[in-house]
Amino acid sequence: MVKKILIVGAGIAGLSAGVHALRNGYEVEIFEKHDLPGGLCTSWERKGYTFDGCIHRLTGTRPDSQFNRLWREIGALKDVEIIFHDPFMSVENGSGEPLHIFSNLDRLEEHLLQKYPEDRMLIRELSGAARVFAGARFPLEKPDELYKIWDFPVMLVRMMPLFKVMGKFSRTSIAEYFARAKSNSFREAFGLIMPPGYSMISLISTLASLHNRDAGFPRGGSLQFARSIEKRFHEWGGIVNYGCPVKEIRINNGRAVGLLLEKGEEVSGDIVISAADLHHTAYELLGGQYLTPLIKKSFRHFPLYSSVRVSLGIEADLSAEASCPVVRLDIPINAGGEENRYLYLTNYSFDPSLAPAGKAVVGAALYSPYDYWRKEAGNESRYEIKKEQLAEQVITVVEKRFPPARGKIEAMDVVTPVTYERYTNVYKGAYMSWIVPPEEGRFKIPKELPGLKDFYQIGQWIEPPAGLPGSMLTGRHVVQLICSRDGKPFQAS
Ligand SMILES: Cc1cc2nc3c(=O)[nH]c(=O)nc-3n(C[C@H](O)[C@H](O)[C@H](O)COP(=O)(O)OP(=O)(O)OC[C@H]3O[C@@H](n4cnc5c(N)ncnc54)[C@H](O)[C@@H]3O)c2cc1C
Repeated sequence: MVKKILIVGAGIAGLSAGVHALRNGYEVEIFEKHDLPGGLCTSWERKGYTFDGCIHRLTGTRPDSQFNRLWREIGALKDVEIIFHDPFMSVENGSGEPLHIFSNLDRLEEHLLQKYPEDRMLIRELSGAARVFAGARFPLEKPDELYKIWDFPVMLVRMMPLFKVMGKFSRTSIAEYFARAKSNSFREAFGLIMPPGYSMISLISTLASLHNRDAGFPRGGSLQFARSIEKRFHEWGGIVNYGCPVKEIRINNGRAVGLLLEKGEEVSGDIVISAADLHHTAYELLGGQYLTPLIKKSFRHFPLYSSVRVSLGIEADLSAEASCPVVRLDIPINAGGEENRYLYLTNYSFDPSLAPAGKAVVGAALYSPYDYWRKEAGNESRYEIKKEQLAEQVITVVEKRFPPARGKIEAMDVVTPVTYERYTNVYKGAYMSWIVPPEEGRFKIPKELPGLKDFYQIGQWIEPPAGLPGSMLTGRHVVQLICSRDGKPFQAS
């Protein structure tokens, strides 16, 4: 008899699990609260402009990379043009030449040595570590749970070159590492590339994948990317029920047996996978019945970050302007209590499909706390005013940084942490899960819960900081686990 798998959520993790489960002979039905696939991986239209709400860099865009094969297994990145903009990011601190994050490590190293000769040792150490990562192959093939004792010698040999780098950097945060820098502007600039609480390994692996040209932007943007996986899911006979929020996971005798939908209907299945936000799954869908100490501890103690994004449709050609400047502000912008001294800008002109001919989309991101926006959202008109006030400050900066944009803004949209929560149930708008303190080492949340059979949880919280590739991988791995429990070999596409 063919087993039926019910999946909560058509984000990247849910779609990935869905495609793999179909490939392995299961019947699959997904229940998604929104009317679109992709979850956090999304974009939307305003007055002919496409505002992208997610991808900055997608790991796996190089045709022969490990992640590329995994993306193609689920129908993504097939015949998609990949766009690379170089430098990937430029920190403009107002004094002299910006710090460019060039993709090529030799070029980056030379540039850093020129700018910060006093930090020669640190620069050499950093680029050396990134080169080691760029040449490495990671054990992505199967979930930890399926590794056998005889897999370890092979894994040890494969991972050998990485051990030294991991040993040196994995328990050090970006902030701790660059605290050693002699140059203040070097220290400050590297604290801007990603949240400084992240482990150095996140920074090193980002530099490595940029160097490998394995972290590009898929033309068409995030929603189109998600739709390509949805297409494969449909082609293989999967069903997605959109506009269909799940209220509860039904449990009988310690087994997950189905779903109760918000609209009151019950659906039964043999296996339930929650690819919805982990906090929502643990506290709402499972009613707090299966909380593990690790889940409780992580939500209680690990930091999160959230941001506001202002997207602008501009009736001007910005194709000659920089792609990703991080601009130092003359007057800091206070976004709900968070003082932003820099503004992260993305000029999407590198992908002309996102704006009408001769026009441009610019996105701006600011750190901003969830709690502030949650409170403001209690009063709708006040919330709208606060969003507009913030957008006005951003527009002033954008018009200064990109002079052709002055007076040419014809579309605008502001997304707060509450918007992310409203559309996807993501906990406190934390779209990259926790910032796991580096001293935690290799951190994972188990996909299965003690005392609950036929239930699995996947998605970005399971292996932080997962992002898109990590979320996709949890979807593949969970089907490998299910196949193993059912005593059948896993078939990849
Ligand atoms: C601004 C921004 C920039 C980002 N940049 C990058 C980047 O450059 N590179 C990168 O790799 N990652 C990036 N990310 C992170 C990445 O988008 C996420 O980590 C990833 O998409 C998470 O996927 P997921 O499937 O785990 O979760 P989600 O996308 O949250 O999917 C969960 C799905 O479950 C649905 N759901 C929730 N509750 C229910 C319910 N009760 N019933 C039915 N459905 C439900 C939601 O609607 C959603 O569709 C970015 C995210 C954002 C927002």
